Amino acid sequence: MSRSGEVRAAIILANNIKEQLAFNRPYLTGWEIRIDRAKRRAGSCRTVDKIITLSQSHILENDVETITDTILHELAHAICFVEHKDLSHGVKWKHIAKTIGATPRATGKFNTPKSPWKIVLVDFRTKKIRLVAERYRRSKKIMDFYLKDDVTTKGNLFYLSSKEYDSFIKNEVQFNELKLIQ
Ligand SMILES: [Zn+2]
Repeated sequence: MSRSGEVRAAIILANNIKEQLAFNRPYLTGWEIRIDRAKRRAGSCRTVDKIITLSQSHILENDVETITDTILHELAHAICFVEHKDLSHGVKWKHIAKTIGATPRATGKFNTPKSPWKIVLVDFRTKKIRLVAERYRRSKKIMDFYLKDDVTTKGNLFYLSSKEYDSFIKNEVQFNELKLIQ
């Protein structure tokens, strides 16, 4: 299935589950399923505008069972909010989660996408790099970044693709071949 096909299928799945649960909880028909771009979390429950979101990357990186569990997890939040004004993963939410068939756990076991970029501290003298952080996006301001308590690192922080970083760690590419980006 294409990426957009998988996303569409997940929305249909979520709406079907929602409609089934709405049989006993009619207020759920007023809730909408949408897609978001989050990378680290699987979904969200927005009580203000009654929207449940599923992360696109979560849909693309996980199987149907895991996505179903995420949908049920967020719907349990919606139910718990409407019926108890409770948005926690507390006793009431756990009970509802169990009742509707979701894993009663705050965070599920699912895959998150690998971040494409590393921020590395580069020592051009010794030709060594040190991993500082993982990033999903590059910032144009990297030249101005420096490590906490060490201003001398300013100008020595670079982006390196995760792929190149892995190759460098495995000695498959040399320091001089690295595409360091500022
Ligand atoms: Zn939750």
